[in-house]
Amino acid sequence: MDRSIQELKNVNSFSKSCIHTKHIYSLLDLPRIDESYKKMSKHLETCVVCSKEFQRFQLKTEAAQVFIPKVLMDRDLRQSFEREVVELFKVMDLNDRELLKRNVKEGFIFIDRMGIEFIRNLLSKTMFKAYFAAVIIFICLKLFL
Ligand SMILES: [Zn+2]
Repeated sequence: MDRSIQELKNVNSFSKSCIHTKHIYSLLDLPRIDESYKKMSKHLETCVVCSKEFQRFQLKTEAAQVFIPKVLMDRDLRQSFEREVVELFKVMDLNDRELLKRNVKEGFIFIDRMGIEFIRNLLSKTMFKAYFAAVIIFICLKLFL
């Protein structure tokens, strides 16, 4: 009841201040179903001080929209930055894949070389001596056992 009297006083006397004025800014942020939004918008209908302040605030907000092109430029900049980052990641990913491919290839080359080395070792003079020794041992074992 107290508040209604205060509001009535505001409407009639065009008093310069209202205790609710500082809350009207929240109207832009609050969801419309919010209880305090409902309260505030109801209050705006009856309080001249607050409704005037809110109009002023809305005008200011609209005036601030003039600076939106600058914001858009920032967004463009951000988008191009994001694009570049994506490109960078693509290149990195590609490099990663190239690296993997190279590693696999080098691995195969290594195994290949090892195989060739192995075969080459089997055919070396040292190995032939070993085979010869093995054959001699085998024959000896066959003869004497
Ligand atoms: Zn008010």
